[in-house]
Amino acid sequence: MINLELPPRLEQARQGSRAMAEALFRPISRKYDLQEHAYPEELRALGGVRRPKTAEEIREAEALRELAKAKAKQDEGKIVNGNNTQGVVSVAEMCWGDVGLMLSVPGVGLGNAAISAVATPEQKERFGHCYASMAITEPSTGSDSANISTTARLEGDEWVINGEKIFITAGERCDTVVVWATLDKSAGKAAIKSFIVPKDAPGLEFVGLENKLGLRASDTATIRFDNCRVPKDNILGSPEIKQGSFGGVMQTFDNTRPTVAAMAIGVARASLDLTRELLEKEGVQLDYDKDVWHSSAIQAELYRMEAEWDAARLLTIKAAWMSDNKQANSMEASMCKAKAGRVGNYITLRCVELCNAMGYSKQDLLEKWARDSKILDIFEGTQQIQLLIVARRLLNKSSAELK
Ligand SMILES: Cc1cc2nc3c(=O)[nH]c(=O)nc-3n(C[C@H](O)[C@H](O)[C@H](O)COP(=O)(O)OP(=O)(O)OC[C@H]3O[C@@H](n4cnc5c(N)ncnc54)[C@H](O)[C@@H]3O)c2cc1C
Repeated sequence: MINLELPPRLEQARQGSRAMAEALFRPISRKYDLQEHAYPEELRALGGVRRPKTAEEIREAEALRELAKAKAKQDEGKIVNGNNTQGVVSVAEMCWGDVGLMLSVPGVGLGNAAISAVATPEQKERFGHCYASMAITEPSTGSDSANISTTARLEGDEWVINGEKIFITAGERCDTVVVWATLDKSAGKAAIKSFIVPKDAPGLEFVGLENKLGLRASDTATIRFDNCRVPKDNILGSPEIKQGSFGGVMQTFDNTRPTVAAMAIGVARASLDLTRELLEKEGVQLDYDKDVWHSSAIQAELYRMEAEWDAARLLTIKAAWMSDNKQANSMEASMCKAKAGRVGNYITLRCVELCNAMGYSKQDLLEKWARDSKILDIFEGTQQIQLLIVARRLLNKSSAELK
């Protein structure tokens, strides 16, 4: 028999994240929706990841690393629910509170996922403490990430980076940017590599912030690189241009896409919970013992949304779990992102409609969640791009064969 309940350790993590979302994010959710670009001071208390400094802290960190290594060895060959599974469960709960605020928690950026997916153990040691954003998108490149124009060339012991990156989540608040650049545009996607660029690197210029429809608590920045210099070993992975590879790009997306799917699941859950609460006050109760023929249209719609939500959630947990268990999950990562992105948009907007004036009014958060959810079907690959990736995998076609 399949048990679809969360095991105790994940359930504990879920409850902890929900408690944080309820106590910290919800009360300030509207405040930072209205004050775009203001830093959510209340989040400073969450700190961020700090590099150990004193001898005692260094010893403690070393002991923890040894414990983690021993646990990983013990778990070799076993089925595990690791960091990725726990991550999606926690992210969904935090985004039930507020997705823009979750993206503003200091120390945890999309670039950190790239570092943990692709960095060498030595680089993880050096950069693991960073608060890293991820800079892929350019004025002339979005979905077509293999077409990047930002360049990196090796000069002595340094990489010199030139180009412009737009729509960088946490681009102002982070201390480090993971920048995608090409070593040789004529060599195609095999020449695209990612670089760890500290914000104070010479030649990095912060240009400005976007004004947005949703996710207004989260900063979205433009950054320019004008002969920006970073040390030679700040490249993630190998500098070798090997045809057929894509510089760790897919490994990064395999981790970040389920995370974005989890964000959509969290926002959709928030909308469903509030809608059910508001409708219950109007006498609409869900009764799973009653057959669907004897349900009202509105009850049937709520059942349908609950079923869609659960399908998205289960696909997302599966994709993250596969990653924890070292199973190739590119197709499942795209599947869950496509499903959760679409379902998140559908549920949040339908909840606005079902609650009518209460849904549209700024007195409640339903209208905000509908605005916040839109981007979750766009960034880290749009709906159409995810479906394209799934189709390529199912039909065994390359990106050149199926565009
Ligand atoms: C709030 C916000 C935060 C963001 N954060 C980040 C970030 O942190 N880092 C980062 O690098 N980027 C970020 N982005 C950028 C985001 O990832 C891009 O917007 C996204 O990849 C789409 O690119 P585009 O906007 O250039 O659209 P385009 O690629 O121009 O696409 C436009 C439309 O065409 C469709 N389309 C494109 N190609 C195909 C195809 N082959 N088949 C079918 N349909 C297709 C797309 O699905 C889309 O609907 C962010 C964007 C926003 C708005």
